[in-house]
Amino acid sequence: MSNYTIARVAVPVPLYSLFDYLIPASFDQMPARGSRVRIQFGRKQLIGLVISLEKESSFPVSKLKPVIEVLDTQPLLPVDLMGLLEWAAGYYHHPLGDVIFSALPKRLRDGVEAELKSENHWALTESGRSYDTSGLRRAPKQAALLSYIQDSPLSELTGDQLNKDWNNWRSPLQELVKKSLVEVTEKVQSAVASSSSYFGDKTDSTFKLNLQQLSAAKEVTGALNSYQAFLLQGITGSGKTEVYLEIIEHALAQNLQVLVLVPEISLTPQLTQRFTQRLNTIIASLHSGLNDTQRHAAWVQASKGIARVVIGTRSALFTPMPDLGLIILDEEHDASFKQQEGFRYHARDLALVRAKNNKMPVLLGSATPSFESLENVSRGQYSLLKLTQRGAANARPPEIGLLDVCRRPMEDGISDKLLKKIEEHLSNQGQVLLFLNRRGYAPLLMCHECGWTTACQRCDANMTLHHHNQRLRCHHCGYEKPAPTRCPECDHESLYIPGAGTERIEVALKEKFPSTVISRIDRDTTRRKGELDRKLNQARSGEAEILIGTQMLAKGHDFPNVTLVGILNADQGLFSADFRGTEHMAQLIIQVSGRAGRGEKAGEVIIQTHHPEHPLLHTLLESGYTGFAKTALVERAQASFPPFSYMAIVRCESIQKDHGVAFLNECRQALNYEGVELFGPLPAPMERRAGRYRWQLILLSKERKKLHAVLRHWAPEISKLKTVNKVRWSIDVDPQDMF
Ligand code: ADP
Ligand code: ZN
Ligand code: ZN
Repeated sequence: MSNYTIARVAVPVPLYSLFDYLIPASFDQMPARGSRVRIQFGRKQLIGLVISLEKESSFPVSKLKPVIEVLDTQPLLPVDLMGLLEWAAGYYHHPLGDVIFSALPKRLRDGVEAELKSENHWALTESGRSYDTSGLRRAPKQAALLSYIQDSPLSELTGDQLNKDWNNWRSPLQELVKKSLVEVTEKVQSAVASSSSYFGDKTDSTFKLNLQQLSAAKEVTGALNSYQAFLLQGITGSGKTEVYLEIIEHALAQNLQVLVLVPEISLTPQLTQRFTQRLNTIIASLHSGLNDTQRHAAWVQASKGIARVVIGTRSALFTPMPDLGLIILDEEHDASFKQQEGFRYHARDLALVRAKNNKMPVLLGSATPSFESLENVSRGQYSLLKLTQRGAANARPPEIGLLDVCRRPMEDGISDKLLKKIEEHLSNQGQVLLFLNRRGYAPLLMCHECGWTTACQRCDANMTLHHHNQRLRCHHCGYEKPAPTRCPECDHESLYIPGAGTERIEVALKEKFPSTVISRIDRDTTRRKGELDRKLNQARSGEAEILIGTQMLAKGHDFPNVTLVGILNADQGLFSADFRGTEHMAQLIIQVSGRAGRGEKAGEVIIQTHHPEHPLLHTLLESGYTGFAKTALVERAQASFPPFSYMAIVRCESIQKDHGVAFLNECRQALNYEGVELFGPLPAPMERRAGRYRWQLILLSKERKKLHAVLRHWAPEISKLKTVNKVRWSIDVDPQDMF
């Protein structure tokens, strides 16, 4: 038996254990820690990842199955990432196999080789460049193709590019190669999805960084090659991106790779474009718009050190980068950095861990930092860098005003006063942006006679009315049906349509301003591929004169012509059940407001509210985000909520209500929770969703260590409870919302 060595393998299943397999003596290739192996798991063959090699197993060796195949001769995941993922599995109390496999792109999970495919690139030869195509008169297709290549602005063409303009180009191109007019070289695939060239044309920026920008950049470049965490708090439009670029150039000059993380919605292509124009290097982008092949190529390019900059959303954090020397996380307050299902990690918090392990600086940037990050500055964990002026020469922060809409005429969600303002700005050639955090036409339909509403059968929520197809849709479970024209309960013939969503605002404004170009940007209007990009370009160029949108419009965009921003329903966040509700409301108001007055023209912001006296709104407008955060953090501290305590939630879902309650009660009774306060079982704020009851047990502790000691004990024990089989459960560490 002693000639067998054992591989301890993490498998993509939601189980906390690792699994031992024998390495057959006949293998000439020993698997290494971090390599993928093919194994038999139950009745299925799966791909697992080797965590360690062992001499002994706690199982009888005769019961162990052999490894079927070793897929990687070199470890797929390098030592530093293995360490990070193991740490994360421990911290989030999530099964290691699931952690590892959710960190890998799909094709790697499926066992595809971690190599780049190569593709042909065609270019003119010396003689091809000067060849007169009339010499090809008897081969018109070849002649046309040759003159196309001669006219192309690109020095090399790939099959993808030729496919755009040509059918059947292969055989004429082959002939041109035979005639030595065109030559072909095989090159590895480009990881830059939308760009036609590897290298951007470096354009020198026309302005110099201001003193604040320079000193912020200097602090960070001075810290390269050691761990330090920075928070760059710069007002909207203060030129944070320019600071990033300056620092990145320094890092690249020192032969370091740079990882840039951005929020989920839409920003990656724009940022990639801006970076490509400035940085003379290979940039890989990793975001949800890529297909599996592109994602694979980008991952491999980064992990081989070919791509020097990686720009990506949350999960790009797990990309191996051998020369990584700097991590930047833009809009660090954004909730999309927290994964909300499965392996519920926070990319910001893990970015700090990765930077610390690998001894490099990490830079978090935001105009509205999260309370956690502000508190970390107070505690001396992060160094604060501030930008207090707008970057562009004449840009000033906008004027923000509250508009009391109590008892005012409010046609379709917009007050008469705001309408006047819109007219005024349009006639001054300004662009208008209206923000509303609710899509669809109206949040419900209602009967005035009997009180019937469009409640979803499967959720504790109303179904939203969509006007363009006259349907009701539940935004929580996706259930859909035609909108009734009379009350289904009492047959009364006119139904009342209270409240407004973005679609209603659009319809109303199109009637009021028939000759104005109005563009609505929300999830419903940007479903088609490329549509969001098109609409954002139309917004940036000023072609769209009124922009109506949800959060998609709030984040990081630079629309230089916007002079008026209207926030239509700011009140939601004031009365949220979530302890982060007011923090998120303030961030949203400041971020949306920041879209105004970014160019030459002054900006104005109008916030419609039914609560103009609310102290939080006043603090925000009078003392700005920093003042607001100070006040709100004092309240947080008094209530002992994070960041002044540590929280985790055990969530569960069940078809029958009692099952979830019984399960959480059993957790409480059967498991030890010394040093931790328990709250619950409590119903989730939306108790029923998609036909399942959702309950939660909240664990809170003043000491992080105590909370984690309890969770470490709970995680493997929960699955042994009697009531566990009738529920789906999960542990959420540092939850970002209670839903
Ligand atoms: P942020 O990311 O902080 O919102 P950006 O980096 O997008 O800000 O910059 C906002 C605008 O100001 C951009 O159009 C940018 O080109 C411009 N800008 C930034 N820094 C300067 C500067 N030092 N001088 C002139 N314009 C600048
Ligand atoms: Zn009715
Ligand atoms: Zn529903």
